[in-house]
Amino acid sequence: MTAVDDRPTATVRRPDVAPGKLFIGGQWRAAENGVRFDVVDPSTGSVVTSVARAGKSDVDDAVAAARAAFDGWAATPGRHRARILRRVADVVRARADELVATESLDVGKPVSLCRPVDVETTAEQYEYYAALAQSIDGATRQIPIPAHAYTRREPIGVVAAITPFNFPLILSSSKIAPALAAGNTVVHKPAEDTPLSALLMAEILTEAGVPAGVVNVVTGFGSEIGDHLVSHPGVDKVAFTGSTAVGRHAASVAGARLKPMTMELGGNAAHIVFEDADLEKAIGAVIKGFVFNTGQFCMGGPRLLVASSLYDTVVGALADAVPHVPLGDPFDPATVIGPMAGERHLSKVERHVALARAEGGRIVTGGRRVDRDGFFFEPTVIADLPDDSPVVQEEIFGPVLTVQRFGSEDEAVALANGTSYGLAAGLQTENLARAHRVAARLQAGIVWVNDWAMLDPAIPFGGVKDSGHGREYGPEALASYTRTKSVVISLA
Ligand code: NAD
Repeated sequence: MTAVDDRPTATVRRPDVAPGKLFIGGQWRAAENGVRFDVVDPSTGSVVTSVARAGKSDVDDAVAAARAAFDGWAATPGRHRARILRRVADVVRARADELVATESLDVGKPVSLCRPVDVETTAEQYEYYAALAQSIDGATRQIPIPAHAYTRREPIGVVAAITPFNFPLILSSSKIAPALAAGNTVVHKPAEDTPLSALLMAEILTEAGVPAGVVNVVTGFGSEIGDHLVSHPGVDKVAFTGSTAVGRHAASVAGARLKPMTMELGGNAAHIVFEDADLEKAIGAVIKGFVFNTGQFCMGGPRLLVASSLYDTVVGALADAVPHVPLGDPFDPATVIGPMAGERHLSKVERHVALARAEGGRIVTGGRRVDRDGFFFEPTVIADLPDDSPVVQEEIFGPVLTVQRFGSEDEAVALANGTSYGLAAGLQTENLARAHRVAARLQAGIVWVNDWAMLDPAIPFGGVKDSGHGREYGPEALASYTRTKSVVISLA
C-alpha cells in the first residue's frame, strides 16, 4: 500500500456500470431464479446498478466448476502459472482507470487513494506471487534408515475466498494471487455492499489467460449463502476476511468440517505517542492512521494514547488540523475522506459518537453526519473517555479517533494491549531502544514505528486474539495455500 503511481487521478470519471452476472466456469450467467440486488453509490445514496444474488445451487455450480478446473491448474508448472499471474498484473495496470472508477464508485473510495493503493497493490500482489510460484519447493531430509525422504508442497484444492466491503480489490487479490500461485482454484464471494470490482477482476483474469473455472465469482449475501459455501464438501480451505462476529461463526462452521482456514478479522489498533516523538511527524501519522480509507480500515489507528506531558498539545494540534482534511466527492482528486461505504456503516459510527457524548466524552472536532447526500461523516476526535468505554474498546470502523493519556511506558503498553483485538499497533518515538522494546511487547500482527499503514505484499499481516489467525501477504500467505506431503522411499 506504499506503492506510488504518479499518473494524475483527475481523468477518472464516474463510470456507467452494466448489471452484473455470476462468473462460473468461465461463463457469465444469472443467479438461480434470476434474482438480483442493488448496488448503491455511497457518495449520492443512489442505485447505480444491480448484480446477481446467488443462491445455494449457484454456489454448488461454482464449487463444481472450481473442482473440475483443479487438476489441470494444479498440474500446470509453477513457471507457467507465474507467466499468467504476471499478465494479470499487466492487465490490471492497463485497465487501471476502469478499476479505479469502479472501486471508487462502489466503495466511495477517494480516487487519490484508490489508484496508488488499491489498484497498484493489486497488480503488485500478482507480480509478487508470480515470482514465488516458481519456487514452491520441498526439502530432502536425512533419516537414519536406508531411505530417500523428501517433502512436497501441494495445493490444497478449492478455496472459498470471502471478502469484506472496505478493500475489495486488495483483499480479494491477497487471497486469489497466492492461492493461484500455489495451484489452487477459487470461489470468490465478495461483500454484498461492494461486489463490482470482483466482476471486473473476473474479466481481467480471463483476459490474462486464467483458464475457465480456476476463479469463479458468486455475488450474494453472506447470510444466505455463506454457511453453504463454508461448509461445502467441495471446498477444501476457507480464506475469510471480515468482522470478528461473522468470522467466529464462519470458523465454527468450517471447524466442524475440519477445514483449514485463515481468519482476518476486526481490529482496534492503538497508536502511542511517546514524549520523545517527533511531534509534527507524529500528528501527520495519527491523522493518516484514523482517516485512511475514511476510517474503514481494519488496521487503522483509532485509539490514540498520548504521553500525559503532551496530551493537551496533541489534542490542540488535532483540533486545528483535522477539520482541514479534505472531505468530499471521491472522484475529486483532492479528496482524502470520502463517504462511508453504506448507511449501515454510517449509522454504526453515529451510534458510537452518541454513546461517547452520553459517557461524557469531549468532542474535540467533528461528531456529526455531513449535511449532504450520501453517507458522509465528519472526521471526529473524542477526548477524555474512560478506558473501558465501549467507544474505546469496540471497533467503530469510521473516521473517529479517541484520545487517552498515559504516564509510563508500561502503562502505554497495558492500555494498547487492553482490548480484545490484536491486528495492528503503532508508536511514535525517536528512541531506537524504546521502538524495539515496545514493538516486541505489543500484542498485534504488525507494528508500525513513526508512520502508519506501511504495507507491502512482502510484509505479512494478520491478527492475534479476536483479530483472527493466519497471515496474508508474504511467503507466509503462499505457504497457507499449500500442504506438505512427505515421501519416504526405501533404498533397501
Ligand atoms: P462482515 O463480517 O459483515 O462480512 C465479511 C464477508 O463475510 C462478506 O462477504 C459477507 O457477505 C460474508 N458473510 C456474512 N455472513 C457469512 C456467513 N454466515 N458465512 C460466510 N460468510 C459470511 O464484514 P464487513 O462489514 O464486510 O467488513 C468489515 C470488517 O472486516 C471489519 O470488522 C474489519 O476490521 C474487517 N476487516 C479485517 C481485515 C483484516 O485483514 N483482518 C481487513 C479488512 C476488513
